[in-house]
Amino acid sequence: MPLDLLSVLMRIKIISITCVNKMYHVSTIQLYLVIRMRIIRGVIEVATSDRFQALNVTSIIETWVKEQKLSNGLLLVYVPHTTAALTVNEAERGLMSDIVTFLKELTYEGKSWRHNIIDDNAHAHLSSILAGYSIILPVIDGRLDLGTWQQIILLEMDGPRRRKIKLFFMGET
Ligand code: ZN
Repeated sequence: MPLDLLSVLMRIKIISITCVNKMYHVSTIQLYLVIRMRIIRGVIEVATSDRFQALNVTSIIETWVKEQKLSNGLLLVYVPHTTAALTVNEAERGLMSDIVTFLKELTYEGKSWRHNIIDDNAHAHLSSILAGYSIILPVIDGRLDLGTWQQIILLEMDGPRRRKIKLFFMGET
């Protein structure tokens, strides 16, 4: 079976039980429903411009959802990196700066972490652990189901670099 086309077979068993002369009569009806679901994968590359940066990537991902004509399903968005992270929050400029400051302070950026002996970015690895590397979003009627103020934010903690955002959709198109 090709990876981009998954047939899911659901079996619904209806059992009716009737009691006749103290004997149980059992009848079973099985219905088979075939739901055709697609799996669609994508990769978006984003260039960050600073060592520390919070980037609103919502519109890039929304565009991909439209281009792929996704209808209803679940979209996994993740970064294949250990020094960047993804989160969902308000993309107000001051708050984006606060999020970066918050992570820098929580991870003691500048502390003599042992990893810094070989690679001067221990704080970025720790930030990635704190913020997480993935999010799952519902796609409903062709649109990302985000709240009014919710935006998808890529957190760069060891840039500038080219970062990949990977997408894995499972559902109807
Ligand atoms: Zn490192």
